[in-house]
Amino acid sequence: MDDIAFKEWLRAEALSMGFARVGFASCEPLEGERDHLRSWFSEGRGAHLPYLDAGALIDPQRVMKGAKTALVGFFPYARPEAIPGSSPGSLKLSRYLWGTDYHILLKPRLQKLLVMAQEWKPEVRGRVCVDTAPLMERQMATRAGLGWQGKHTLLIMGKEGSWGFLAVLLLTAVLLPDEPFSVEHCGNCTACIDACPSQAISPFQLDPNRCMTTYTIETEAEPPSEVAEAIGQSGWAAGCDICQEVCPWNASPVFGDAGLWGQLNRLHTEPAADLRLGPSQWRSRTRRTALRRVRDRHWRRNVDLILAGRTNGST
Ligand code: SF4
Ligand code: SF4
Repeated sequence: MDDIAFKEWLRAEALSMGFARVGFASCEPLEGERDHLRSWFSEGRGAHLPYLDAGALIDPQRVMKGAKTALVGFFPYARPEAIPGSSPGSLKLSRYLWGTDYHILLKPRLQKLLVMAQEWKPEVRGRVCVDTAPLMERQMATRAGLGWQGKHTLLIMGKEGSWGFLAVLLLTAVLLPDEPFSVEHCGNCTACIDACPSQAISPFQLDPNRCMTTYTIETEAEPPSEVAEAIGQSGWAAGCDICQEVCPWNASPVFGDAGLWGQLNRLHTEPAADLRLGPSQWRSRTRRTALRRVRDRHWRRNVDLILAGRTNGST
């Protein structure tokens, strides 16, 4: 199989595994991001994300020595029936947290793809990255032609929307890259900026120190008072989808396969007051979900902010 046929075979196999779109990018350093990252870190925006390393972020070859090509896939997770906060009194959890942990679904798929690829080309090495390596997945996705980074900084695949995970398979094979996505289609829209309850977004920049997701998922640090108030008022207990919910490009998005993502969890439907769970209840309710990385005491803190917000809102 020649390299062009090999690339198209990889794409077709990845699509058959459930990816909605697949592109190929070179693994040259993302030099265009260097200055932006430097100022991002110097402004302290990575304060709650200590695992990030600016040097590694721009250079995929720091993640895998010898990497030449990145296969980047968009795997949809939203489902029409999974509407955060739609049950009376329930909490809101980000759509990506509904159902099976995405690592459990995506990693084996790309690992299988790598093994199958090595049957064609035994000399090829690879590394699967599913939110598990310091990679700039959104920039790699743009480079691979999947879409553009909206003003909220997430990747938008045009009419197919933004509800999807980006997963990467780094390969030592040199394959012709796809055409990068070079135009952004946000235009004059400011819906995400206007809707963010904690003012975390400025055009094409997001300040994690002001984003509710940072404090409900990434760190147990106390949120600044205005962010705590936004969590309490908005009811987002884990993650936040507001900036994607208001995006016009998500009007008719590509949805994930309900059969793959599994049943809805009672965490999404029960009243908040019943969800101040202890350690063992938390472990059993979050088994095989991406919520497992949030500790039970962190979860209770988030629930308490929301219960306090509801109490204050009713006085
Ligand atoms: S996820 Fe929520 S808090 Fe964070 S930037 Fe988007 S709207 Fe704002
Ligand atoms: S809401 Fe508007 S500005 Fe924000 S990402 Fe979507 S199109 Fe762009």
